[in-house]
Amino acid sequence: LANRKFHQDDTVIDVEGTKIGGTNFQIIAGPCSVESREQITEIAKDVKKSGARFLRGGAFKPRTSPYAFQGLHDDGIKLLLEAKKETGLPIVTEIMSIAHIDLFADVDVIQVGARNMQNFELLKELGHSDKPILLKRGLANTLEELLMSAEYIMASGNENVILCERGIRTFETATRNTLDISAIPMLKSVSHLPVIVDPSHACGIAWMVEPMAKAAAAVGADGLIVEVHNNPAKALCDGKQSITPEAFDKLVKDLRPLVELS
Ligand code: PEP
Ligand code: MN
Repeated sequence: LANRKFHQDDTVIDVEGTKIGGTNFQIIAGPCSVESREQITEIAKDVKKSGARFLRGGAFKPRTSPYAFQGLHDDGIKLLLEAKKETGLPIVTEIMSIAHIDLFADVDVIQVGARNMQNFELLKELGHSDKPILLKRGLANTLEELLMSAEYIMASGNENVILCERGIRTFETATRNTLDISAIPMLKSVSHLPVIVDPSHACGIAWMVEPMAKAAAAVGADGLIVEVHNNPAKALCDGKQSITPEAFDKLVKDLRPLVELS
């Protein structure tokens, strides 16, 4: 179902009138985690002003250490919905368990994180939803495996899948992951689904987000998901790779010659 052989035209996903895919390049921006009402609404207003069309923010966080901040859970989703009310930006947030699915009833785009890319029962369940699913590539998964995971969602009835390249594990340790830039043209040639890039998790270093974002735009990505924090040094998660609202504003300005932004 994800194969371009049987579906020549690019899939365009419409989220409350905001389209992604085809000729519609979109930027999703926001903090790694929702931390407070002030934090999420302030960042939401800032990124909207700069040109983001979706707000991201984790409420359920897949942290390596069980002692690290795990997210605000259902309160985090409530705060995202408040920020949406305030700005009109549709929200994107990660699901970690089928048990939480009812909490996502008002979420606009449900993210499946890298660590759950092959949680097949979760994928099948999300296939029964009509919400767009942002499916991130696993840390050590091939493009074929990513497409098969998209296929799980689509085979259960939900064809609104957005693919995301977010860097993969390689022998290189200078960056958090290695952005597989070749994944974008390859995925777009074999599949009709929109493909976006997460430069933040790919490199793990704030100053590198902008060049990686430009590279993604240059090779034909349909959008970006970028971590933005109003106080990166104090962020409860992924501060090192979070850019400030000012840096995000510059990033969007610098992207304008490369892609058409709404
Ligand atoms: C995230 O988007 O904050 C996240 C945890 O991403 P990934 O699943 O790609 O690591
Ligand atoms: Mn993060």
